[in-house]
Amino acid sequence: MKIAMVGSGYVGLVSGACFADFGHDVVCIDKDQSKIDRLHEGVMPIYEPGLDALVQSNVAAGRLSFTTDLAEGIAGAQAIFIAVGTPSRRGDGHADLSFVHAVAREVGENLANDAVVVTKSTVPVGTGDEVERIIAETGCNHRVAVVSNPEFLREGAAIGDFKRPDRIVIGTDDEFGRDVMREVYRPLFLNESPILFVSRRSAELIKYAANAFLATKITFINEMADLCEKVGANVQDVSRGIGMDNRIGPKFLHAGPGYGGSCFPKDTLALLKTAEDYDSPVRIIEAVVKTNDSRKRAMGRKVIDALGGMEAARGKKVALLGLTFKPNTDDMRDSPAIAIAQALGDAGVKVAGYDPEGMTQAAPLMPDVQMCKSPYEAIDGADAIAIVTEWDAFRALDLERVKALANSPVMVDLRNIYKPDHMQAAGFIYVSVGRG
Ligand code: NAD
Repeated sequence: MKIAMVGSGYVGLVSGACFADFGHDVVCIDKDQSKIDRLHEGVMPIYEPGLDALVQSNVAAGRLSFTTDLAEGIAGAQAIFIAVGTPSRRGDGHADLSFVHAVAREVGENLANDAVVVTKSTVPVGTGDEVERIIAETGCNHRVAVVSNPEFLREGAAIGDFKRPDRIVIGTDDEFGRDVMREVYRPLFLNESPILFVSRRSAELIKYAANAFLATKITFINEMADLCEKVGANVQDVSRGIGMDNRIGPKFLHAGPGYGGSCFPKDTLALLKTAEDYDSPVRIIEAVVKTNDSRKRAMGRKVIDALGGMEAARGKKVALLGLTFKPNTDDMRDSPAIAIAQALGDAGVKVAGYDPEGMTQAAPLMPDVQMCKSPYEAIDGADAIAIVTEWDAFRALDLERVKALANSPVMVDLRNIYKPDHMQAAGFIYVSVGRG
């Protein structure tokens, strides 16, 4: 089967490479010439573990190719996936659908055969209807079914998630659409990955409901962590204690600096907007968005407190370890590190940062942060060290070296990757999250 993937970012490139690995013939299309040039040179435009090998082997096998030319890329494709960005629209938080609509128009204008157009981008309820309308408006006279197939992969574990998904959601009432999608996912069907066929609107909402639920779980445990600090309880024990209940489950119960990334912040906001448009409030999500927003700067204040308060903090230096929103990605979109660095900068604190993969993306977003080549360079002369992202590289820091380099052995561990008694024994003034 020939598949076209329009948009070759974190989702499009991983999905395209995985579909090729299933044996399909895949063309990844992107408007960004430099991205396509790099892919032709065998250089990955993003960091995702295992992606370079997967791309290389499928290119070598002749199943995966790249182009900037949409008309050429979609020629003969039975399934055309839309995997372009849907960021928050500036000003109101609605999902910006301009990229999705532009692709729909270009597909309609260039389609030369019957095809299923599949929205993989995260899009608000009703977007499928609009994509269908735009394609019809172009005068396209081929049979087209517009299907919703939201993506649930996680950056950093994207290939495993795509190949072994908890479920595949397909939203369509169209028989042709269902048949083609069954064929697209047949290799996973054989693996017994559950495929859920629902209406297009249900599929669109499933993605937002899932992300909003996960964001709620994180925000819930973060507030429990704050309460733990006040009452002298340990949030990790609380998480374990509630997570062992199958109705709750142990995942997404790690207290930290607040959720960030390319999905949860924009998707929770977009869900609020949909709810508002339909006059059907989602007050829990409203509270989640507000609570998470204020938490990021509050984490900056936590570091300032560890420096001795506002007065004492001015002119001091903090080493920020981990800048990306989570480990194993170079994605900086809405990373809590940005708000934390800002809060520190506003208080007159000098910030030195280090991240194993995110430095290139971080530098323009954090112009006042001194970017360092190693965690130890950042720690050199620091009055406090803040662990913001739980990269493995920070789990086994040489603590003696850290103490020798730092001006003062203060560590604020916003991911709870060290044990308080161990750190105290090692001579650190150690602050963590929810372990009062
Ligand atoms: P991304 O920004 O990494 O990639 C989008 C790509 O689309 C870019 O390379 C851009 O150049 C390209 N593009 C834009 N307009 C185009 C056009 N007209 N023609 C061809 N290419 C075009 O975004 P992403 O992180 O891959 O996210 C894509 C979608 O998937 C979003 O809706 C997002 O919410 C959703 N999603 C993302 C994740 C994730 O972890 N990143 C997970 C699930 C769902």
